[in-house]
Amino acid sequence: MQATLTIDLSAIIANWRALDALSGPNVETAAVIKADAYGLGAATVGPALAAAGVKRFFVAQAEEAVALRAALGPAPEIYNFSGYMQGDDAAITEHGMIPVLNSAEQVKAFSKTHAGRPCGVQLDTGMNRLGMEALEAASVALDIAALKPDLVMSHLACADEPAHPMNAAQLAAFNAMSFAMTAPRKALSATGGILLGAPFHFSLTRPGIGLYGGAPFTDARPVVELSLPVVQVRDLLPGEAVGYGATWVATRPSRIATVSGGYADGILRAAKGFSLYAGTTPCPVVGRISMDLITVDVTGLKRVPDSLSLLNATQTVDVLAEAAGTIGYEILTSLSGRYKRIYKGE
Ligand SMILES: *Cc1c(COP(=O)(O)O)cnc(C)c1O
Repeated sequence: MQATLTIDLSAIIANWRALDALSGPNVETAAVIKADAYGLGAATVGPALAAAGVKRFFVAQAEEAVALRAALGPAPEIYNFSGYMQGDDAAITEHGMIPVLNSAEQVKAFSKTHAGRPCGVQLDTGMNRLGMEALEAASVALDIAALKPDLVMSHLACADEPAHPMNAAQLAAFNAMSFAMTAPRKALSATGGILLGAPFHFSLTRPGIGLYGGAPFTDARPVVELSLPVVQVRDLLPGEAVGYGATWVATRPSRIATVSGGYADGILRAAKGFSLYAGTTPCPVVGRISMDLITVDVTGLKRVPDSLSLLNATQTVDVLAEAAGTIGYEILTSLSGRYKRIYKGE
């Protein structure tokens, strides 16, 4: 029996509205729905956000842009953070993908083949991941001007740490580098940058994780619920062990529920010290996480329910991430294709 992942579209929309409200009325709030909307299904999340008023979407690969176009129809703009790469021509000409050009080489190549079509430009203000540094941008300044980019953007490396000096340094660098560039839109901030305040907003923001209920947007409404069916329940005597490696041994008469869901479903094996919930009652996970199964100590329950909850308003993606030594982004993007997916609030 499949586990059930419930995705609350109305919460995603409420989170987008809340993030939008944090910037001024002249600042457009886009939506980042790369990696299949952080694992939640871009083909459903995209149209829901478009219906709520999102006009610009960002993805990370041309293939994602093509798939998203089919789901969104012709109106919304779809930008690709990877810019213009070999094999991307049909995505641009037939599916209206807007590449965010990352290098002098991409600027030159795009100018040759697609001059006159919309494009964005990404500047590197210190993250050293994507985008042109000042000298590289200067070397193709005339080409960039001729392309009349629709968007000039950069990305913050440390926006989830408000006191980090990189934030002010990148802001200053972006102001300096983009000053001489004419574009209808300038953008520096993802979710974290929106929370840093107005100087970081420019004319467009690009939230991702905050839409899906994750930190650093701590006021977000939780978006996912994950419920794992109980496959069987067994009673153990003190001294009996559970799971691979026999790492957990009962110290009292114990009742163990085996639930469907494991590391093949993105429930990270490294996660330690977390629970599954029977309503509001936490039941500790015991023993190792297997490929398809988890074992849970339900000794304290009067009645074992048909399913136990792994993600909910109490145990959010960030709580589970903490238990696994990772971030909410990885919990979300690891969510299994094996789960039955239910969309609420469509
Ligand atoms: C992923 C990404 C975003 C969205 O970031 P969040 O932290 O999820 O809000 C925005 N801009 C760029 C360039 C990205 O790669």
